[in-house]
Amino acid sequence: MTLDIVLIPGDGIGPEVMGGARQVVEAAGVAVRWVEGLAGAAAGKASGTALPEATIEAIRRHGVALKGPTATPFGGNYRIAFEGLRADGSARSYPSITVALRKELDLFVNVRPVKNYPGIRSRYDNVDLVIFRENTEDLYLSLERMRDADTAEATKVITRGATRRVARFAIDYMRRTGRKRVAIVHKANILKLTDGMFLEVARGEVEGAGLEASQRVVDALCLDLVMNPEAFDCLLLPNLYGDIVSDLAAGLVGGLGVAPGANFGEGCAMFEAVHGTAPDIAGRDVANPTAAILSAVMMLRYLGEAEAASRIEAALAAVLADPRLVTPDLGGSGGTRGMVARIVERLTPS
Ligand code: NAD
Repeated sequence: MTLDIVLIPGDGIGPEVMGGARQVVEAAGVAVRWVEGLAGAAAGKASGTALPEATIEAIRRHGVALKGPTATPFGGNYRIAFEGLRADGSARSYPSITVALRKELDLFVNVRPVKNYPGIRSRYDNVDLVIFRENTEDLYLSLERMRDADTAEATKVITRGATRRVARFAIDYMRRTGRKRVAIVHKANILKLTDGMFLEVARGEVEGAGLEASQRVVDALCLDLVMNPEAFDCLLLPNLYGDIVSDLAAGLVGGLGVAPGANFGEGCAMFEAVHGTAPDIAGRDVANPTAAILSAVMMLRYLGEAEAASRIEAALAAVLADPRLVTPDLGGSGGTRGMVARIVERLTPS
């Protein structure tokens, strides 16, 4: 069967690493019809908007996307705007392309596995945890305004519904993958209503499901993660803490170049690495394609192509084990194209 997958190359290093992921999937023999999805600077040039409705429609229709990173300017009035209003009458506009895609497609959870891979040097040996990040609310609703010329304010929103939904997803994922313990991460000592609700609802769901729930204040969690990451199994976090802790966790196992991720909704999924567009290294053939390739591996498992996914993982692990082949972020002197070529060689029957 041929799989229809929307491929969004993205900006900066996006086209380099996503091109690599595409080559590797094809070399594994998976039959894919790639549907081009424009988003980011390339889309802006081609169609006048950084996120065309056609891209969102394509993901809705085909149900799966592999997305490269997209650039978001800091500060100012940059917004991704769509025609029409939401059901509640508010404007459909978002602070970034990724937030727009997650909200428009209701991709309510971001899953980020964090694990040591053979060959990737890091300070730890046995990290193997999964981060579940709520994806649709918290400060990412971007309800920001100037109260007056000298005061900017933002509103944090946590709802029982969204918390219950992400907790139930985590429970289901844990049951399917044999994981038993989840730490619920919050700052309920200060944010008593919002984070208090997240903690109360998430803990009720996890304990009700017969799994082990603990709770961690987010600052203490950061310390514990750096001191003893091997002790953690799963983390469940509201949107902002999830975003921050994901980058920290990527640093525990080799850095942003090796950290994959996925966003799930009802009947729709979008796979994307944790890293951004890395403008400092774009176009130099030094970007690490591992995170993009591991995101594609997650996608293939979701699509029922577990055998091809495992072969890709094994080929990647073999290449990562050779320090001459890997990219400079992992201490090597290899390049993006060279790494991809070696992985493809291992996947191609001789
Ligand atoms: P970044 O992840 O792009 O880069 C941070 C550091 O990590 C840089 O030094 C970069 O060179 C390095 N790095 C990242 N990916 C790498 C890879 N595959 N191989 C080797 N090194 C890698 O974060 P940033 O600099 O904060 O953001 C740059 C742009 O990306 C911004 O416009 C930001 O909004 C955007 N961004 C997009 C997404 C997304 O689309 N999902 C996620 C994060 C950031």
